[in-house]
Amino acid sequence: MKVFRTPSEVRAWSLEQRCAGKSVGLVPTMGALHVGHGALMKECAKRDDARIFSLFVNPAQFAPHEDYAHYPRTFDRDCELAAEWGMEAVYCPTAEAMYPEGYTTYVTVEELDQRLCSVTRPHFFRGVATVVTKLFNAVLPNRAYFGQKDAQQCAIIRRMVQDLDFGVEIVAVPTVREPDGLAFSSRNEYLNAADRERALGLSRGLQKGRALIEAGERDPNKVIEAVRQTMNGVEVDYVELVNADTIQPLDVVEGKVLLAVAAKVGKARLIDNIIYEVPQS
Ligand code: AMP
Repeated sequence: MKVFRTPSEVRAWSLEQRCAGKSVGLVPTMGALHVGHGALMKECAKRDDARIFSLFVNPAQFAPHEDYAHYPRTFDRDCELAAEWGMEAVYCPTAEAMYPEGYTTYVTVEELDQRLCSVTRPHFFRGVATVVTKLFNAVLPNRAYFGQKDAQQCAIIRRMVQDLDFGVEIVAVPTVREPDGLAFSSRNEYLNAADRERALGLSRGLQKGRALIEAGERDPNKVIEAVRQTMNGVEVDYVELVNADTIQPLDVVEGKVLLAVAAKVGKARLIDNIIYEVPQS
């Protein structure tokens, strides 16, 4: 695995690949890799000739009371797994190099960052958009891969790439789940056995929502209320039904709808969602 620590090192590698006619694929991660990240990397390996992942726990997307200090850091294992999944290089800058003293420039994507995770984590998407901008400017990828599990993040990155003319193709990869429905997440490591059982409340809620929509329910409030009722055992942060591209609330459940949930389970805050294409009536 080639290891790059500075923007100039990684940019030199990327330009060499691109000059040789190769496409460069980037998979941004915060490490503690699991098979969800693996799906993004395998997709990248299918499409791109030169494949790099970034491993950076981004302080700009954590509030002071959140888990930045405790976030799992497993560099050697991550590199081994990523190599198995087809990655040949990793970009892992230090936090001091990314945000040196006096750092002042941040990227915000307006309107899409008003609901869902932004309500309890108002700092979060500014941090994400800023770090993704910095990663794109350093790595100069042709394509970048993101998980549908972070659906609001996908919508925000797509809009940012379009609005700021990045010229990077964004590939969204479906959520990978354990056999019982729990979405893989680095934060699942915080769950004890009882929390792990309770965490199924999220996917149970989404299944209930899907069943209601498939049965013809078109009143967003009725779907949201039923999903909430089904998520017993977890401390619900939000249940929302929005348009998947604009992250705006729906009057009627139709079009490309995103049913998104977030909940606290033990020490972990977990999110999950489904995206559903509902024909216009
Ligand atoms: P993270 O390391 O948690 O920042 O995640 C890095 C990327 O992996 C993001 O684009 C996530 O959406 C994606 N990802 C995380 N969990 C999953 C999953 N269970 N299935 C698919 N993609 C995922």
